[in-house]
Amino acid sequence: MKALCKSEPREGLWMSRAPVPEIGPDDVLIKVNKTGICGTDIHIWNWDEWAQKTVPVPLITGHEFAGEIVELGRNVTELSIGQRCSGEGHLIGKTSRQSRSGKFHLDPATRGIGVNEQGAFAQYLRLPAFNVVPLPDTISDDIGAILDPLGNAVHTALSFDLVGEDVLITGAGPIGIMAAAVARHVGARHVVITDVNPARLELAAKVADVMPVDVRQEDLADVIARLKMKQGFDIGMEMSGNQTALDQMVEAMTMGGRIAMLGIPPGKSPVDWSRIVFKAITVKGVYGREIFETWYKMIAMLENGLDVSAVITHRFDADDFETGFSTMRSGASGKVVLDWTG
Ligand code: NAD
Ligand code: ZN
Repeated sequence: MKALCKSEPREGLWMSRAPVPEIGPDDVLIKVNKTGICGTDIHIWNWDEWAQKTVPVPLITGHEFAGEIVELGRNVTELSIGQRCSGEGHLIGKTSRQSRSGKFHLDPATRGIGVNEQGAFAQYLRLPAFNVVPLPDTISDDIGAILDPLGNAVHTALSFDLVGEDVLITGAGPIGIMAAAVARHVGARHVVITDVNPARLELAAKVADVMPVDVRQEDLADVIARLKMKQGFDIGMEMSGNQTALDQMVEAMTMGGRIAMLGIPPGKSPVDWSRIVFKAITVKGVYGREIFETWYKMIAMLENGLDVSAVITHRFDADDFETGFSTMRSGASGKVVLDWTG
C-alpha cells in the first residue's frame, strides 16, 4: 500500500510502499479514505527537537482519519465490515489507576498512532476495535477526518459551563476556530477570538458567529469596554501556544475566571502567578479528547446543527501531500484534507 512515512531522520516525509498491516484478534483493518494534516505532523515533517526525541524512524505518520472497516479481528463482534468510521488515535494501556477507573484520556501509558505507532497516512490502518468510532451517514468523510482536532476543541470548550458566559479564545488556528463554533453552539454570550494573522481571523468569522480581534491592532481592554462587559471574560481558552496571548488572556479575565489551556507553550514559559492568585483564576490543562465522552458529545452536536465544515479550506490527493503540507505551513489555511481513495 501507499504510505506517507518518516523514512529518514531529517526534514521531510516520503510517499513509500509499505505492507498492508496485519491485524490482531482485537483489531480492525480500516481502509483510509480521508486524512487531516495536523500541527503535530508539521513538527514531524520539520524534525524538530520534540519529533527527534519522540518519533521512531521509519514510521507511517498521521492520526486524523476517516475510512471504513474492511477486516475484523476474530474477537471483534460489535463492529461490521463496511462500517464507516473514524477513531481515537491515542492507544491507551489498561493497567494504570486512571484507565481502571474509566479515565482513559488520563492514562500515562498512552501511545499515539502516527507519533509512536504506525499511523493513518496510508491506504490502510490497523486500529484496536476499542478505538473505533462509527460514523453516522450524516457525517462526511471530510468531517470524519477532522474529528480528532474537533475533539480537542470540544474537550476544551466543554471544560467549563459556557451558557451565557463571555468567552475569550486566544489563537484562531483550526482548533481555536472550531472551539469558537462550539462555544456559540452551546450558548455562550460574547465569543471573542484573537490572532495576529488576518487570514485566520477572517476564517474564524466565516466559520462561527464570533468577534475576531487582531491583537496587534486592538487592545482587549477596548474590546471589553466596547462589549460593555463589567470586568472581563468569564472563560478563556488558550489555543495559540503563545506566551503573549496567555498574558493577554490572564489580564482580560474577570475575577474568578476560568481558563482551559490546550495550546502548548514553548518550553518553560513565565506566568504572572500573582495575577492568577489575586484574580482567583482556575487554570485547567487539557490534553487530547475524553475517551469516549468527547466523541459522543461532538457527534451529537454535529448531528444537531454544529457546522465546522468551512474550517476545511483545502483538499488534495494524497499524492500531492507536499502541496498539502506547504499550504498548512503557510498559515493561510484552515484544515487541509488529503484524499487516499485515488
Ligand atoms: P495553529 O498553530 O494552527 O494555531 C495557532 C494560532 O495562534 C495561529 O493562527 C497563530 O497565528 C496564533 N497566534 C500566534 N500568536 C498569537 C498571539 N499573540 N495572540 C493570538 N493568537 C496568536 O494551531 P492549532 O492546530 O489550531 O492548535 C492550537 C494549539 O493547540 C497549538 O499550540 C497546538 O500545539 C495545541 N494542541 C494541543 C493539544 C493538546 O492535546 N493539548 C492537541 C492539539 C493541539
Ligand atoms: Zn491532530
